[in-house]
Amino acid sequence: MPPFLPGTVWLVGAGPGDPGLVTLQAAWALAQADAVYFDALVNEEVLRLARDDCERVFVGKRAGCPSPKQSEITALLISSARAGKRVVRLKGGDPYVFGRGAEEAQGLVAAGTRFRASPGVTAGVGGLAAAGIPVTHRDVNQSVTFLTAHDAKGALSERLDWTALSAGAPVLVVYMGFRLMRVIARKLLEAGRPEAEPVAVVANATTPRQQVVLTTLARLAAGEDVAGVEPPAIVVVGGVVALAPVLGMAAAHADAAIADAVR
Ligand code: SAH
Repeated sequence: MPPFLPGTVWLVGAGPGDPGLVTLQAAWALAQADAVYFDALVNEEVLRLARDDCERVFVGKRAGCPSPKQSEITALLISSARAGKRVVRLKGGDPYVFGRGAEEAQGLVAAGTRFRASPGVTAGVGGLAAAGIPVTHRDVNQSVTFLTAHDAKGALSERLDWTALSAGAPVLVVYMGFRLMRVIARKLLEAGRPEAEPVAVVANATTPRQQVVLTTLARLAAGEDVAGVEPPAIVVVGGVVALAPVLGMAAAHADAAIADAVR
């Protein structure tokens, strides 16, 4: 493993939730960290990998309360590193996938603070696999498109070209799309995607609270099937979703068989 030097920051991906999906490098960094700055999406069990005397600082968004500004978080990381600490900045999933990790890294570089990016399992790949949805299948798609529907203010992003996405993206994996999923489904239908196209909403993937809703674009646009689903969730549109009933069920049966075997 690379040495974790005092005065450096590691930008670490914690994976989608299941502590079993934390990388060995993340566990190694946490075991040595003097301070951990973590987000709302990080599972508390993952934080247990840090030393008892490690400083744990929550810098995410709590219900109703705004999260600290990006510049404030970066400033905290820099001052903590300057105080000679080994600093872990722990982010859900992969730090460089829709998590503003790159912005924090730019801030560290500008301040001359040494850092390492330590990748994690991203929700839009690992979270889907846990629901029985492979992001690619040779018979279905030759490309995958990851997108976020939000702009910086939380509104539907104007920078997305729905016509191009509809025509050229066989599988769409939408991050932070929970609130906007009806609108997204409508945009795709208007741009020509079929009403019966399979869609999955995978919430709290890889955690004990995982929920998987299998539906269609038309039903989602009408707000059907998703009552009672709690964010965070990934919305996935495309033919690979049709594999979920088989692959997801097979995985569930395997888990049940293991539970039986150890009973
Ligand atoms: N860096 C993270 C993504 C951060 S953006 C990653 O690589 O996974 C936050 C969004 O990620 C959420 O709005 C949701 O769309 C998705 N997400 C993160 N964890 C999730 C989980 N366990 N289940 C479903 N979606 C999740």
